[in-house]
Amino acid sequence: MKRQELDEYRVLLEILRARLRGDMSQLTSDALGSDREEGSTESKSPTHMAELGSEAFEQDFALSLVENEQGTLDEIAEALERIKLGTYGLCQMCLESGKSATQAAIPKARMRVIPFARNCIECERKRERRN
Ligand SMILES: [Zn+2]
Repeated sequence: MKRQELDEYRVLLEILRARLRGDMSQLTSDALGSDREEGSTESKSPTHMAELGSEAFEQDFALSLVENEQGTLDEIAEALERIKLGTYGLCQMCLESGKSATQAAIPKARMRVIPFARNCIECERKRERRN
């Protein structure tokens, strides 16, 4: 996954986390703060944030499927960790079974809906069958 994409998913995950915590004001100041570090005073950042915000709004569907709020926060924390480690967007179960990063890549459509997904759909189904 490209650096820019990773950044987008990172912001998306941070928005989701802030929403789950009910703390949007913190998020906004964080986001504007990081823009300021780059020396940008243009008005594009609020617009950009609004776009990301509406994208996060679309995640309501994903969030509504989640029963356990703390569990989701843990998933988000681990997804952010995977961004740091460079394994974000890769199916963890595929990787464990020895597949290459290319083979383990989770389809983008899935990542857009569940940005903290750790497994591809096939592995998720296998996992559910096991449980
Ligand atoms: Zn998989």
